[in-house]
Amino acid sequence: MRTVAEYGTADQKARYLVPILQGRAVMSLAMTEPQAGSAATEMTTSATPDGNGYLINGTKIFGTHSSEAEVFLVYVRFGPGLDGIGSVLIEKGTPGFVVGQPSTFMNGEDWSQLYFDNVRIPAENLVLGPGGFRKQMAGFNIERLGNAARAVAVGRHAFNLARDHAAERKQFGRALCEFQGLQWKFAEMLLKLESAQLLLMRAAVNARDGLPDARDTALAKLACNEAGYFAANEALQIMGGAGFSEESTAQYCLRRTRGWMIAAALSKSSRTALPRASLSAAFRRTRRNLPSVQARAINIGPPL
Ligand SMILES: Cc1cc2nc3c(=O)[nH]c(=O)nc-3n(C[C@H](O)[C@H](O)[C@H](O)COP(=O)(O)OP(=O)(O)OC[C@H]3O[C@@H](n4cnc5c(N)ncnc54)[C@H](O)[C@@H]3O)c2cc1C
Repeated sequence: MRTVAEYGTADQKARYLVPILQGRAVMSLAMTEPQAGSAATEMTTSATPDGNGYLINGTKIFGTHSSEAEVFLVYVRFGPGLDGIGSVLIEKGTPGFVVGQPSTFMNGEDWSQLYFDNVRIPAENLVLGPGGFRKQMAGFNIERLGNAARAVAVGRHAFNLARDHAAERKQFGRALCEFQGLQWKFAEMLLKLESAQLLLMRAAVNARDGLPDARDTALAKLACNEAGYFAANEALQIMGGAGFSEESTAQYCLRRTRGWMIAAALSKSSRTALPRASLSAAFRRTRRNLPSVQARAINIGPPL
């Protein structure tokens, strides 16, 4: 949504964002392809100029809530390389566009495969054309921070569930919260959640006049994803069988936080993006100058 808010035309905002903000419509993001997941830049779904518009061909997978969406922000390729990637808006029901049968993620959300077979769209549906890839990724950083915020919030909820349970549940004649082994678990959860939240807030504050940058986003997403999942997993353990039971919200928190570690860039991808974002100047020099002995002498720039 933020990509359209930031880069869309006035007409696109009125047509698509207003009903979404009023709670009357859903937009789904169609980025991932069967052969292009973490390597999103290897996508092949094509946009070929056709009169006063484009013909779209390709297949997308894993778009959350595709079966309920009225409109899709579709990442497409206008030509080779990074500069060939951009995005268009495609409405449900456009001839040649088929939304496959929904499947369900482990977290309970549905996704569908999307098929584009010579789907003709007008030029007005273009959001970012050739050369817009960097802007698109900058817009996507908002999605990543939203993912991070939800992960840390659900981790906190799991923490609260476990705290209340440990205060009430008695074993060996004492409340669970009196056992030091469990107190240390709570301390560890709190430390991870609080520090992750600070990174998230820093990314948000630094982005107050625009979009968050890649380094702030990767740090915040990685920390929040790991903290949220860690807290949910520990909460479930503290709650024992009651946490593992299907009726328990703790097991739901675990499934939700696990999904966010994969969605919008995997944790491992964030680890790959981080050094690039933080040490890019040094990396460029290393590539130019080579040998390992020289590389060791390079000043690697500001600390992470
Ligand atoms: C809950 C959820 C919601 C999603 N919502 C959407 C959506 O709305 N729209 C959409 O388009 N997509 C969506 N996705 C898809 C998501 O973006 C992809 O799953 C994600 O990009 C990973 O791609 P992949 O599943 O193909 O895994 P792959 O890219 O095949 O990765 C598989 C494994 O290889 C590892 N790996 C890959 N590259 C590297 C590397 N460079 N270094 C080290 N390890 C690596 C990964 O860590 C992983 O363990 C969603 C996914 C989930 C789980």
